[in-house]
Amino acid sequence: MSAKEVEKYHEKTIAELSAMLQAGEVSSVELTQYFLDRIKAHDEKLNSFITVTEESALAAAVEADEKIKNGDSGPLTGVPIAHKDIFCTEGVRTSCGSKMLDNFISPYDATVVTKMKAAGVVMLGKTNMDEFAMGSSNETSYYGAVKNPWDTSTVPGGSSGGSASAVGARLAPAATGTDTGGSIRQPASMCGITGIKPTYGRISRFGMIAFASSLDQAGPMAQSAEDCALLLNAMAGFDERDSTCIDKEVPDYTAELDKPLEGLRIGLPKEYFGEGLSPEVEKIIRGALEEYKKLGAELIDIELPNSGLSVPVYYVVAPAECSANLSRFDGVRYGYRCENPVDLMDLYTRSRGEGFGAEVKRRIMVGTYALSSGYYDAYYLKSQQLRHKISDDFKEAFEKVDVIMGPTVPDTAFKIGEKSDDPISMYLSDIYTIAVNLAGLPGMSVPAGFVNGMPVGLQITGNYFKESQLLNVAHQYQKNTDWHRAIPEDFS
Ligand code: GLN
Repeated sequence: MSAKEVEKYHEKTIAELSAMLQAGEVSSVELTQYFLDRIKAHDEKLNSFITVTEESALAAAVEADEKIKNGDSGPLTGVPIAHKDIFCTEGVRTSCGSKMLDNFISPYDATVVTKMKAAGVVMLGKTNMDEFAMGSSNETSYYGAVKNPWDTSTVPGGSSGGSASAVGARLAPAATGTDTGGSIRQPASMCGITGIKPTYGRISRFGMIAFASSLDQAGPMAQSAEDCALLLNAMAGFDERDSTCIDKEVPDYTAELDKPLEGLRIGLPKEYFGEGLSPEVEKIIRGALEEYKKLGAELIDIELPNSGLSVPVYYVVAPAECSANLSRFDGVRYGYRCENPVDLMDLYTRSRGEGFGAEVKRRIMVGTYALSSGYYDAYYLKSQQLRHKISDDFKEAFEKVDVIMGPTVPDTAFKIGEKSDDPISMYLSDIYTIAVNLAGLPGMSVPAGFVNGMPVGLQITGNYFKESQLLNVAHQYQKNTDWHRAIPEDFS
């Protein structure tokens, strides 16, 4: 067997694969086939993909190889990745994890997908997710639960659980995700990968199926901060088709990766280290903070006094927005249509009743209630006011510190089924991530160690548009640790 045949491409980061592609040590077709084979061999254990686009992936890989040969390529040309099934992909089913869109073949690409294609990325397929991105465990998908590659009896987190599981098991070098209340960071933490949710407005939401429009933001999920930087370079930027997308120059996110951390001020919110945090997780986070001290950072205690309000506020704002966004799925304009409706009302009610799952219905009902006249002021308006207070806490904190650190999730991945009958306990697994979305700030999760063999993520939150700084802070840690390189034994 030649050296080439035993090469374990799944152990390599995108930065490393890219260098190999450019040097002609591997072709995009070989890499793409390698990952398609891994998906075939392993995904049965994980259920991380809803659709695998083998044929179009190989065709895109041929094109990428051509570009590389002609010297017309960039750092992502020929690199295979997966897209969360919330991004519209032309000619490919885009289900959003729901029966409602099970037969939806998108006629166009989301801007994120267009930009990735332009960068020469090869799409391997579409990853499983909680239905309409509502969930923290990936158990609400119409296509069944996704499993965590570190222990397949546990959840991968949600809602970008398919992306996290696939990257955790190295069935894809990276994947896209979306984060409304933690859906990039929480599953990244639970599956031992690196993920970044940029500032709200940094990446276009065009073609990304809406859950809660004032909170939703796309981002990359990969092995390392360096890979996230490469992917963010391709994803970020203004798009006139999304009125909330911000027209601000996109820096090269790799440019600051190597900056030393001497003098970095890290804020530790006392609310993130209190009751509810597993002592073992806390130990891991404290260990990571020690590492930062060695790198020259200063640890400063801070307070985010309104953070206790973030879960209740989110669970008014997000359902309110989703109830409006999901009203379009009525069996006429969009989505599944029930069989043999007797009249229009029957068509609406049965199409929605049969097309949506329980969690989505719960959110629509809560949201419709919160927006109804008589309750609007008490719930929706009040929540919007409290949202400002939550943002103000961060503003004040960022006067004293550069970044904020803490655990991403209070505990490691829980068992499948453990919280499915208890929505409140499920909602609390996002207790440290949600405030960041309410404030519109950028946040990351970085692998920081293991508790009983299960990964733990360190959350790093930055000020608006400080993605470069977050990636730099994460990269310096990853240069000195190798938690992010760990691969679950069954997928090694
Ligand atoms: N887990 C949160 C929810 O269920 C957040 C989901 C998300 O970020 N998409 O709404």
